[in-house]
Amino acid sequence: MGALSGFRITIQQMFRPRLTTEFPKEKQDKPPRVHGRHVLNRYEDGMEKCIGCELCAGVCPARCIYVRGADNPPDAPVSPGERYGFVYEINYLRCIHCDMCVEACPTEAITETKLFEFSFVDREDAIYTKRELLVDDDGRARRQPWELWLGGEDDETSAWMRATAPSGNAAYEGKVAWSGELGFGVRAPELGQTAASWDEGKAVEDLQTVRLESPEHDERDRAREAHADTEDDTDDGAHPAGGGHG
Ligand code: SF4
Ligand code: SF4
Repeated sequence: MGALSGFRITIQQMFRPRLTTEFPKEKQDKPPRVHGRHVLNRYEDGMEKCIGCELCAGVCPARCIYVRGADNPPDAPVSPGERYGFVYEINYLRCIHCDMCVEACPTEAITETKLFEFSFVDREDAIYTKRELLVDDDGRARRQPWELWLGGEDDETSAWMRATAPSGNAAYEGKVAWSGELGFGVRAPELGQTAASWDEGKAVEDLQTVRLESPEHDERDRAREAHADTEDDTDDGAHPAGGGHG
């Protein structure tokens, strides 16, 4: 009897719903402000936002950003300013995803996706250059072969930048103070950031409404539903046998 009672918790757990996510086949949705791998953004007309000012490199506590600016060619400017980011590199062997670079950037050029599942087999792959960081013609992250993208983890690349834009000043909450992004336009502000306006239910709703629908999202959701249906069928068959153990 004593030995059987030792299994009581184990047996109880066998009949509880499973909370495990089948990673890496399936990923849980991440909050909009998660700091993942970076992107270099472009304006809605396709011009690059980076002006090569090096503020991001100066503020980076891990010293993992290298930027060189250059004068814009008058006949084919790359950015709207006098200069643009000619060289831009981030060393992901050192980055701690603090997002200080994002907060320091005066033009919202550098922001982060929600992706953190990426690994490298050599040091060169760990150093992302403009070729990897600059968003494509749809405003999306250029997905590298060693990165595990599932769904729209590059839907909300500027969430942290927008969340910190009011700098804690209630007078600026809810005011759009950022430019449009290629492929996404001008993003909505995140509400519920100050104690005065905080309503937990509403804040969660607002965060959900600023999430953009994407075909990839729909596809992933369908895959999850199909997976859940399969699990239900399997569980239906398994429970009677499981009941036999009890
Ligand atoms: S997230 Fe932090 S550590 Fe990474 S590049 Fe930006 S400032 Fe540096
Ligand atoms: S990403 Fe922003 S802070 Fe960094 S060099 Fe470009 S414009 Fe300056």
